Amino acid sequence: MANPKTVLCPRCKKKVQYHFDPVNHRKQLLLTIFTLGMWLPMWLAVAFSPTKLCNECGGPLWADT
Ligand SMILES: [Zn+2]
Repeated sequence: MANPKTVLCPRCKKKVQYHFDPVNHRKQLLLTIFTLGMWLPMWLAVAFSPTKLCNECGGPLWADT
């Protein structure tokens, strides 16, 4: 049975473990203010779907396949 905690990294070309990128809410708030609220949907998007980061190269993992 495959380990569900690993995902294929396109950079490392192998299955790697990953961690989630913590959302910088202060930066998101500043961006939302700076764009007069236009950034708000992006803030919600990153808050509800945090980016997976490869433990080996630190790159983002967009696909689970
Ligand atoms: Zn990697």
